[in-house]
Amino acid sequence: IGRHGGKRETVGFEYNGVTFDERSVHLFAGLCAVDTHESVDAMMAALARCGIRTTRMGAYKPRTSPYEFQGLGAACLPWVFELAGKHGIQVVAMEVTNPRHIDEIRSALEASGNATGVMLQVGTRNAQNFELLKQLGQQRVFPVLFKRGMGITLEESLNACEYVASEGNPKIVFCLRGVKSHLGDPHRNMVDFAHVPVVRRLTRLPVCVDPSHAVGRSDAGPDGMPDIFHCIGQGLIAGASMVLVDFHPHPELALCDGPQALRLEQLAALQRYAQIVREAY
Ligand code: PEP
Repeated sequence: IGRHGGKRETVGFEYNGVTFDERSVHLFAGLCAVDTHESVDAMMAALARCGIRTTRMGAYKPRTSPYEFQGLGAACLPWVFELAGKHGIQVVAMEVTNPRHIDEIRSALEASGNATGVMLQVGTRNAQNFELLKQLGQQRVFPVLFKRGMGITLEESLNACEYVASEGNPKIVFCLRGVKSHLGDPHRNMVDFAHVPVVRRLTRLPVCVDPSHAVGRSDAGPDGMPDIFHCIGQGLIAGASMVLVDFHPHPELALCDGPQALRLEQLAALQRYAQIVREAY
């Protein structure tokens, strides 16, 4: 991952027509958990209206409680990829929690026959699942979106990325998503976007920020701007080139993390805000 030297010009990679480097910014706005055909269709239609060709869609959900919605799993993949094709989505970020999910995604994608690609996401809870990381390294088809471990050191998270890279897959994006705090933080996690330049200094990985899981709430401050927007601004100013952010057509009905989901009506404003911030810095 470039910790032992290497040129900054070699940061990033190209995948399915999308360049992941330090210059371009990609919004991966989408559903934390796929729930209904209608939600996915509405989400992707909103993205298409904004000219956005990247999204996040959770099919396999690692939940803290076994009694919470665990995701629709492989059953939803055929229609998620069909809708991605319909709306011209080029890359879907999708978490995998078990090596078997990689094959399920590959088969469903092939069966769909469309040109959509998938970036396989490692969630914070699997940041040190070394067998999963090795499998993600051994497959060369899909790039990997690695989310830092919420309760381990940054160094340990970087080592986890080495597991993927050393097995042969250097197409990795490093995602900051907040860390656990025991200080009564008003947010879900302590936002760690000050580490964006640190990761850029230490590695050659493009950096992503996930303000939704960091902040954990979609409500706005006195200026009418959601904390999530402010945090995106911080991440982009610091040099992040990808943003993973939760949306839902009806956040109150979402089966997972509804309180942090933005509404589809906020998508165009978020896109404009990200452009303005990025151009200013
Ligand atoms: C997610 O992005 O859906 C998710 C569960 O994130 P994290 O692993 O960062 O909690």
